[in-house]
Amino acid sequence: VRVTFTPIYRRERRISGTIIVLQDVTEQEKMERSRREFVANVSHELRTPLTTIKSYLEALQDGAIDEKELAHRFVGVASNETERMIRLVTDLLHLSRFDSKQTVVTREPTDIAAMLEEVADRFSFQLQQRRISIQVYAPKPLPPVPLDPDQIDQVLDNLVSNAIKYTPEDGTITLEATQVEGGQVEVAVQDTGVGIPKKDLQHIFERFYRVDKARSRNMGGTGLGLSIAREIVKAHNGFIYIESEVNKGTRVSFTLPLEVEGE
Ligand code: ADP
Repeated sequence: VRVTFTPIYRRERRISGTIIVLQDVTEQEKMERSRREFVANVSHELRTPLTTIKSYLEALQDGAIDEKELAHRFVGVASNETERMIRLVTDLLHLSRFDSKQTVVTREPTDIAAMLEEVADRFSFQLQQRRISIQVYAPKPLPPVPLDPDQIDQVLDNLVSNAIKYTPEDGTITLEATQVEGGQVEVAVQDTGVGIPKKDLQHIFERFYRVDKARSRNMGGTGLGLSIAREIVKAHNGFIYIESEVNKGTRVSFTLPLEVEGE
């Protein structure tokens, strides 16, 4: 608690009273702490790929450049790390636009089942490579859902790439859209992957939170995919949920209202 005393002066500079302000600064301090943590995280996340790139460049300078195969591999690593850094900065810009409320949601009535099919098609090559099968399931015809196609596409993209990243070969991914109570549509991405331990589940939407940092980085992850997904769903007045069981799989679902207030 922050306490401030302000004396009240009357004639002849005599104090006739005091204003005491008690201010609860817990919230403020929490925000300040999370801001500091965020900056530390960003610096660390950028430093890691930069250090890797630097060491590979040095190895090239020290002679690896003359060994064709080695040089090829080292340049490949540096290039992958650069790409991950670009993704990281793009994700950060995206989040900062949400934080400063600069993101506009441009809704249009959308056939969500068709959208799921499109996403499944986009990943078909990657899925084939990993021998993961995908199913799109929309049991009943759905009314058009008012949503921002680019933004919801990004949510689906993030969720499906996670499902692929964390599902071993021969697994299955299911995309599902159903109408639920309260004039909402629920969209779910379910996998038969490694799952997430219970203790991590409550933190999983936090920026940079990962169950296994090394694994996420190796897979090219930024640790921001789920936080971006949550921001987008929130901007659509929806909710996002995650259920998971270790070694069984994960289901991330989100709701979208069929009626938009004020329209
Ligand atoms: P990342 O870029 O690391 O994938 P995300 O924000 O998308 O970042 O996800 C955060 C973390 O949540 C991941 O590092 C991973 O530990 C966990 N996670 C997300 N989706 C899944 C999933 N489908 N199966 C298992 N773990 C998952």
